[in-house]
Amino acid sequence: MTYFIDGLATLFFGMLVTWRNLWRPKVTVRYPYQKRPVPPRYRGLFYLKWNEEKQRLNCVGCTLCAQACPTDVISMVKLGKGTNASVSEFTMDLGRCMFCNLCVEACPFDAIYMGPVYELASERRDACLFRITDLAQGGEEAVRKNIETIQRLMAEEEKAKPAATHPAGGHAE
Ligand code: SF4
Ligand code: SF4
Repeated sequence: MTYFIDGLATLFFGMLVTWRNLWRPKVTVRYPYQKRPVPPRYRGLFYLKWNEEKQRLNCVGCTLCAQACPTDVISMVKLGKGTNASVSEFTMDLGRCMFCNLCVEACPFDAIYMGPVYELASERRDACLFRITDLAQGGEEAVRKNIETIQRLMAEEEKAKPAATHPAGGHAE
């Protein structure tokens, strides 16, 4: 008889817990239909920052990020030179990235940041390759404007060179 009463009491308390939890606010997120906000310091796919004022990417193609990367994730093609340099291509191999942030810390030009993008898994190996148009803030449009700006700045720089550096019939360095 004692066992029976104990069992009944246990059942009752168990049902009481269930009943109480029925009325509590739900905490379950129905991912992927619902998504929680990404914390500001989350390290997802990195991105190249767009500078609205200068109408160019901040990246100057110095390769410091690529040199700091321990797993050889980053490669780039430099565009222009000197103070007006940038990149015409910037590729990252996601398959090798360990989201360590070293590339961001190595950049002295405020040009590269870890972003909030996740859900990067794929069954295709080539889906691991992200090009400049995928990485630049503003995408293809930003890359196009960046190239235009750098080319304009290069032309202006060339024009502003003193005549002495352009001897008649000679070649500019
Ligand atoms: S992202 Fe920064 S460190 Fe990397 S090439 Fe561009 S300017 Fe240099
Ligand atoms: S986060 Fe780390 S592994 Fe990924 S590209 Fe930057 S330095 Fe390389």
